[in-house]
Amino acid sequence: MDALRAGVHYPRSVGEFQAWFRTDADCLDYLEWLQWPGCFVCPDCGQRGGWRLGDGRFMCCACGVRTSVTAGTIFDRTRTPLTVWFAVCWQLATDKEGVSALSLKRVLEIGSYQTAWAMLHRLRSVLVRPGRERLGGTVEVDETYIGGEEPELPGGRARGKKVLAAIAVEVSDPRGLGRCRIVPIADASATSLHAFVADHVEPGARVITDGWMGYRGLTKLGYLHEPRSRRAARTSGQDPTPLLQGPHRVASLAKRWLLGTHQGSVDDAHLGSYLNEFVFRFNRRRSRSRGMLFYRALELAVAHAPIRYQDLIAQRRPRPVPPVPPGTHGHPPSLERPPAERPWRRSGANSG
Ligand SMILES: [Zn+2]
Repeated sequence: MDALRAGVHYPRSVGEFQAWFRTDADCLDYLEWLQWPGCFVCPDCGQRGGWRLGDGRFMCCACGVRTSVTAGTIFDRTRTPLTVWFAVCWQLATDKEGVSALSLKRVLEIGSYQTAWAMLHRLRSVLVRPGRERLGGTVEVDETYIGGEEPELPGGRARGKKVLAAIAVEVSDPRGLGRCRIVPIADASATSLHAFVADHVEPGARVITDGWMGYRGLTKLGYLHEPRSRRAARTSGQDPTPLLQGPHRVASLAKRWLLGTHQGSVDDAHLGSYLNEFVFRFNRRRSRSRGMLFYRALELAVAHAPIRYQDLIAQRRPRPVPPVPPGTHGHPPSLERPPAERPWRRSGANSG
């Protein structure tokens, strides 16, 4: 693939996508271009330059190792044609609402639901770029419960339980939202919340939270922490509504997406992975082309180590809840709380 074209190296439309990737060889060419722009680089010895062999693999000109562009990536040893992988990736990246395993299985005539499910999960796993920049500027942080309210699910799968998730969103005046993060957390303790903020927000940022004690101590971690209390706003005659609007908006979009595209059939062990997909799409919602998202997703896919099926189905639950010191448990996430009164009262139903 010598002269890539269109939106500058990604297809801009379904028509262009189909024209670019008719065969597995077309897909291999594209992956090679992503993996080794300009020239083959040996994954073993780091030498630049090599030969393409008859079977499509490359041979290093220095150490003679033979390798393929898919070796050591999420496409390693896949039995699914690359054209199907590319079609899945195109759907995932370009459909504004994403795509479910069930609809992929139907639309692309993928043999089994498990295959479609595993392909989507492999792609979701790569969407978090290692070393991605943390959020900055003014960031609102809050928690919410996700799941748990869906009706009986088809296929005899277990009902989802509620999972606590922390949300961080960049906000700008007057009401603009920047990038966001949503990650399942074990509980609303200071340990969990501080770790979440440290992982996802750049030190020095202005962090706005509610008055929950789990957020105390963020100043010591290097943040300009502004705890705000609805109650205080109300008693001082201010309108408490705008408090933490960013996390509210993001949480409702994420929940609507989980209930819509996935019909709520997301088990809590994999919720984090679905939320990664949501964040990937949300943070690129202003991309000038959906095709660019396809390009970004594939670029991440060839840079990502293989993912074993066993690892995908392994239960990746949030850490078990550690014992909570008396008086600090039962923080009902503010998104579930009634707006004003007695916000820190133990909810009774959920204590962690
Ligand atoms: Zn080599």
